[in-house]
This record gives sequence, C-alpha cells and structure tokens, in this order.
Amino acid sequence: MRPARALIDLEALRHNYRLAREISGAKALAVVKADAYGHGATRCAEALAAEADGFAVACIEEALELRYAGIRKPILLLEGFFEEAELSLIDQHQLWCVVHAAWQVEAIERARLARPLQVWLKLDSGMHRVGLHPAEYRDAHARLLASGKVEKIVLMSHFARADEPDCPRSAEQLALFHEARNGLQAEISLRNSPAILGWPEIPSDWVRPGIMLYGATPFEQAQEQAARLKPVMTLESKIISVRELPAGEPVGYGARFVSERPTRVGVVAMGYADGYPRHAPTGTPVMVDGQLTRLIGRVSMDMLTVDLTELPQAGLGSRVELWGRNVLASDVAQVSGSIPYQLFCNLKRVPRLYSGG
Ligand SMILES: *Cc1c(COP(=O)(O)O)cnc(C)c1O
Repeated sequence: MRPARALIDLEALRHNYRLAREISGAKALAVVKADAYGHGATRCAEALAAEADGFAVACIEEALELRYAGIRKPILLLEGFFEEAELSLIDQHQLWCVVHAAWQVEAIERARLARPLQVWLKLDSGMHRVGLHPAEYRDAHARLLASGKVEKIVLMSHFARADEPDCPRSAEQLALFHEARNGLQAEISLRNSPAILGWPEIPSDWVRPGIMLYGATPFEQAQEQAARLKPVMTLESKIISVRELPAGEPVGYGARFVSERPTRVGVVAMGYADGYPRHAPTGTPVMVDGQLTRLIGRVSMDMLTVDLTELPQAGLGSRVELWGRNVLASDVAQVSGSIPYQLFCNLKRVPRLYSGG
C-alpha cells in the first residue's frame, strides 16, 4: 500500500476548541466548512459534538451531511441560503441561518415555516464581500422581527485584516459595527480565528474559530496565543527510493535542483496530487526519521525529493513528515506562497486515519 497518509488527532482538535472558548470567554461555533478544512467534517463534528456549542458550514449541503451523520447540535449556514427553496430544508432540519442581503429578508417574510428561524444578521462593516449595508442594517433587523418568522437574531460581522496585528482596519470595522447597530441589544458574533487569538478587545457572545481548531496559525509572524495551538493533521509518507548522485547532477522535472556536492537524494511518496503544494521551493522543511532536512527539486504529481546527505542513517522506508507537529503547515505554506487554509483544503487521495476519537 502507498504509505502517504494524513493522521488526524481529534484530541488536539478538542484542545484547540477549548482554547478558542477559553481565550474568548464566549460560546464557540466550530467552523467545519470545506470538509473541516480537509480534516473530515463528520469525524471532526462527532469528536466535538459532546462539548461544542454548535457548528458552522458554508452551505446546506454541508449542513445536511452533518445532520445525516446524526449531529443534533446547532449548525449555522455562514452564507445563509443561496435560493429561496432552501428555506424549507432549513426549517425541517432546524438550521441557523445567516442573512446577508435584502432579498433574503424578503424571502423569509414570504416563507411558510413550521418553526421560527434563528437568524445571524450580517453587517458589511468594511470587508465588502457579503453583508447588509450599515444604512439598511437596522431596518432589516426590524423587518425580520416584525415578520413573525424569526425567534432570535444574532448581530454578526466579519473582519478582513484581523491577521495583521498592527493594522487599524479591525478597530475601524468594529466602530462601524457599533454605529450600524446603534443601540440594538442582541448577542454579537464578530471573531474568526485571527480575531479570537489577536483581538481580545473585540466583544463577542459567539466566536467562529476555523483554522485555529486545526492547530494552524492564521498569522505570518509568531503570536503568543497561536503558540498554544496543537496541530491536528500530520501529513506523512515514506522514502521509497534513494539515489547517490555526484556533484553537478539535476534532480526531477525541469532540473530545478542541481547537486552542488555529492548528494544523497530520497524520493518520497507524496506529490501535488495529494495536495502537497507544487510551488514548495528547494529548502522547504521536511522531517525524515525525526530529523529536519529540506525538499529539493520540483514537486511532481506523486513524488517529491528530499536531501538525505546529512542523514546517513535514513533510507528506504524512513518515515517522512511533510507537515504536522514538527514541520508546521503554516511554514510550508508561507515558503510556497500559500496559506495553511489552502494546504489543508487541497488534501486529497491520501487516506485519513483518526486517533483520539
Ligand atoms: C470561514 C469563516 C470563519 C472561520 O475563519 P477562520 O479564519 O478559519 O477562523 C468565520 N466566519 C466566517 C463568516 C467564515 O466564513
């Protein structure tokens, strides 16, 4: 069997969830959209089900997957419904629903529902992606309340630059939020992972941790709270071939690496078809048999090559960590021009093996 695999530590997932709650002092919706950032939505939700205040996903398809797996906790649809017809399923499965646009308010006013909805009313406080305009926010709130179709409204917004510690934009967005809300008394939800870890002054009744649940930092620089996260995924494989090359020999497609000295090259069963970033350059950290070394040459579809020159004891069958507790996914992402979010979401083909369930 091909030795590439992703080990998922559900105990670490629970540690990170508890940390989100501890740091924020708030209730936390575990964000498990995009198949829990590649970690497996059902397994992750099951592992958190006993203690989580609820879950958040991107769309009803993802929510139904969790309901069909027996998850009874609240599930928030982060973009609400994409078409009006979804409202009957939202009603039937008792999903919580973001409302970010006037047409969604109108659809709820028209809807025939068995039970009143839980709505998270989203304000565009400056990210300019989705959300109601500040001038229409209070009106939308009043209409939803008056519709008789809604039993509770949480006030929500989303930050564009919370991962930049010295950026004034988050404070500006917060000020705009308070201005638009204009005295409305309701529960508030503003913080994603970087805002949970880095902006304790932003108020919240509910937080929405995503990437931090999976143990990766959203920051480019070291950050005190992020250092407390435990990586959940270990992407690992084995050395399947070894080459002893003299100086001056090219390795791999495009001869992107040429040996400068006699070089021992290890070939690892892992490639971009597994989700390892193709743009990882020579020098990207890799751990072989517990020792740090570097990627060399171009990453190909099913294999990549590493430098074993300084690791004489490593060879065929040696265990390789591509990312995990020792090689941080965020470091691999940074040198590859990516982010850990994308690395995790790109995971495919490799079997996921769970522990700590
Ligand atoms: C994805 C998402 C989150 C989680 O973001 P992280 O940066 O992964 O913590 C929170 N809120 C909304 C609205 C999202 O879409």
